[in-house]
Amino acid sequence: MPSSAGLRTSAQWVLCALTVLAVNAQTFTGQHYELELRPDFEARVLDGKARIHLLAATGQDATGQAATGQADTAPASTLELLSPRLHIRHARLEGEDLPLEKTAGGWRVPLNAKQAQAAAFWLEIDYRASAGPGLEFGKHYVMTAFHTCRWMPCVGSDLSRASVAMSLDLPAGYRSVASGQRLAETSPGRPLWRQNQAYPLYTLGFAAGRFTELMDSVNPQLRYLGVNQDQAALAKKFKDSARMLDFFEDKAGMPLPHPIYTQVLVPGGAAQEASSFSLIGTRMLDPILEDPQEDWVIAHEMAHQWWGNLITCATWDELWLNEGVTVFMTAAWKQHRWGDAAYQRELVLLRQRWQDAKDIGFDKPLSWTGEYPSLKIKRAIHYSKGALFLNTLRDELGEQTFWDGLRRYSREHAGRSVVAGDLQAAMEKSAGRSLQALFDAWVY
Ligand SMILES: [Zn+2]
Repeated sequence: MPSSAGLRTSAQWVLCALTVLAVNAQTFTGQHYELELRPDFEARVLDGKARIHLLAATGQDATGQAATGQADTAPASTLELLSPRLHIRHARLEGEDLPLEKTAGGWRVPLNAKQAQAAAFWLEIDYRASAGPGLEFGKHYVMTAFHTCRWMPCVGSDLSRASVAMSLDLPAGYRSVASGQRLAETSPGRPLWRQNQAYPLYTLGFAAGRFTELMDSVNPQLRYLGVNQDQAALAKKFKDSARMLDFFEDKAGMPLPHPIYTQVLVPGGAAQEASSFSLIGTRMLDPILEDPQEDWVIAHEMAHQWWGNLITCATWDELWLNEGVTVFMTAAWKQHRWGDAAYQRELVLLRQRWQDAKDIGFDKPLSWTGEYPSLKIKRAIHYSKGALFLNTLRDELGEQTFWDGLRRYSREHAGRSVVAGDLQAAMEKSAGRSLQALFDAWVY
């Protein structure tokens, strides 16, 4: 997600909590999604068939966290589909039609006693999503955006982890990217993408269109797609990507978690990470043509492939574990590539933004759980203060110990959801001493 653009409005934050398909207080968790998607570029709608494998929550969900379901209490009698923006045509359970009731918040699906007691089942949903937040159509292209549950039915919450397979039904000549790895075409014009590792639902997505395509000349793991771009323009704008990938792999202590990472350059102001790809708007990237140091959006979204996507805040109250770490890593990249003055310029900018929160008396601990008065102030804490805390840890621990700690944290929690204590524990192990006072001052 962008560090400087206000793409996510306050209203979107609210919708984030509402457009989720919840199954009776998470009695069931969605473990795997099979999606057949057909974008209609004229009508600007997406027709989808979703098959969701649901498991009764019995202690652990795919995040590795203790499930919050109520396995010991009475079985569910309804599925709550809190997806008001999706038009649900049919819902079926193991081939049996389920009744659908429209509610103020979305849809309710009553289950009979036998269905409600199942340990696992496949829920099938036929639906249509229309263009709007989360699903953006342009001339000859479509892309998803924050967040997933606006264009596909989600179980649990947008932070729940699940594996996914997506097939896309596209016009001839259209190229695509989706979360995971491209497997094959089930038939001409129907690319199939699969991600076997469980990722947070909000990181799932796809893009398709009449894209120009380019593979990186240095690193074959890097792929570029662009709208109204020729290959030379893509090569020029993304020319540091291979070097950047080396830097983040070194600092994470592990390789890129996908065989291919695709950067999609689209018109406008997009700056959106997804698992295995990112959407980058020309308005964000094109300043790089005037000044090569204007590379923050490439670095920021690439860093999310580790911090955010692979290692994810367990609740949105600790978004700084995604965004603060990523903003810090972007500054660290700039220091590595452009020198210490570039790093210091980033710190000045971050302190200015943090000051905005202080100026209205809203300097909160990073893991504060209360309401923020605005998205801008929330970002000042989670993005800017969060990144400055990483810089403070770096100053306190020294280069070797700090980066060892960050690598330890990253490797230990890859594929999992994290809380601040996980970062603290990794840094304390690396430092060989308690950092409680520092975490108390900044985080708790
Ligand atoms: Zn971000």
